[in-house]
Amino acid sequence: MDVQIEGGELIVPHSDRLLTVLRGDLSIRNGEIVRVGAEGEVPPDFSPERVDASGCAVMPGLVNAHCHAGMSLLRGYADDLPLMRWLAEEVWPAEAHLTAEHMYWGTALSVLEMLKGGITTYADMYFHVDQVARVTRDLGMRAVLSLGLIGEAPGAEEDLDRSAELAERWSDDPEDMIRIQLGPHAPYTCAPDYLERVAGLAEELGVGIHMHLAETRDEVRDMEGLYGKTPVQHVHDLGLTGLRPFIAAHCVHVTAGEIEILAEQEVGVAHCAISNQKLGSGIAPLAEMIGSGVRVGFGTDGACSTGSQEIWNEMRSGSLVQKGMHCDAEILPAAQMLYSATRGGARAVGFADAGQLVPGARADVIVVGLDSPHMTPQHDILSLLAYSAGREDVRDVYVQGRPAVRDGRLCRGDESEIRNRAAELAADLRKKVREDDG
Ligand SMILES: [Zn+2]
Repeated sequence: MDVQIEGGELIVPHSDRLLTVLRGDLSIRNGEIVRVGAEGEVPPDFSPERVDASGCAVMPGLVNAHCHAGMSLLRGYADDLPLMRWLAEEVWPAEAHLTAEHMYWGTALSVLEMLKGGITTYADMYFHVDQVARVTRDLGMRAVLSLGLIGEAPGAEEDLDRSAELAERWSDDPEDMIRIQLGPHAPYTCAPDYLERVAGLAEELGVGIHMHLAETRDEVRDMEGLYGKTPVQHVHDLGLTGLRPFIAAHCVHVTAGEIEILAEQEVGVAHCAISNQKLGSGIAPLAEMIGSGVRVGFGTDGACSTGSQEIWNEMRSGSLVQKGMHCDAEILPAAQMLYSATRGGARAVGFADAGQLVPGARADVIVVGLDSPHMTPQHDILSLLAYSAGREDVRDVYVQGRPAVRDGRLCRGDESEIRNRAAELAADLRKKVREDDG
């Protein structure tokens, strides 16, 4: 399939500022960007569908580097609680009732929300991964998926076998839209011997790791008490950080030494600013991590811990809190934030050939309208995208060169059906938890 997106403001890489704006056309063939402005070549038989993007910005798709998509069924279910009470008293009892059907439609709701917000790739850790993969593929999104592994849970050994089967089952996609990783939940839910087995299996399968790490002060205190080490040092010593890609969600409470390990080991850190603030977990050293060369992307975490799965908000919240905390308006400028939301996220989750508008890159591209009141006037388009844009401005979304959203509407699924089925199943889940409570 050939596509030419014409006349837009292209957000392209630039050596000094990381990103810059260039007016021109973007040409796509068979899922790959072949020309950007005057860069690259279109094949002689190029016969594209032409898309008018005048008055719009054309940029790489956003990446959600950490989420639990099926958790959308629990949006608004348990707010204003600290992490461990939130998990133990509210989330885990509800998750015990999640079926394959819940996961299919809950994930569909999140994929719908994410695609319409301009997210083209997400990294997920949750349950019933076959359903997650199936609906993600059906709706035309890219994902890195893992089954959440709780080392102390009954069935932890079987979950390792299930993960291996998933990796086998989903590894033959010629377009490489769905990848499987291993998802040890956290160092406080997986003992060292289990984590070593996870590392061994990941190496054997040639897959990466997705894990929560250094999320709260309590976690750091407990890991130091149990093992005499901080969480990053602990998983590093167990051999996990050497596996690529290693997606570490949160990294809120990390030392300068741990930041060095994260950078050296090319760990992809999913910075979840809103989840960390909403759960009262703390503020990650985002500026220090980016300054030290850590591969940082933004993550929404689950809809139950953030309310909204929107990377525009995550980018803004992540940046503003750092400027305020450091009393320094110059750190994390607009271009840096946009880079982390796109290319940074793609590298963090292991898609090194995505997240930028250059010939040869995967054609994950979004078209963002610049004509609304909050996007007027256009003194600086990078600033508008970083500080003013929202998901309502996303007009078209292409994943692997195929339209997933056009004129703000999902292309490959029925939006009303997804919303209705998800709402019914969320009500069913709530009823089951109430029955448990007697
Ligand atoms: Zn999470």
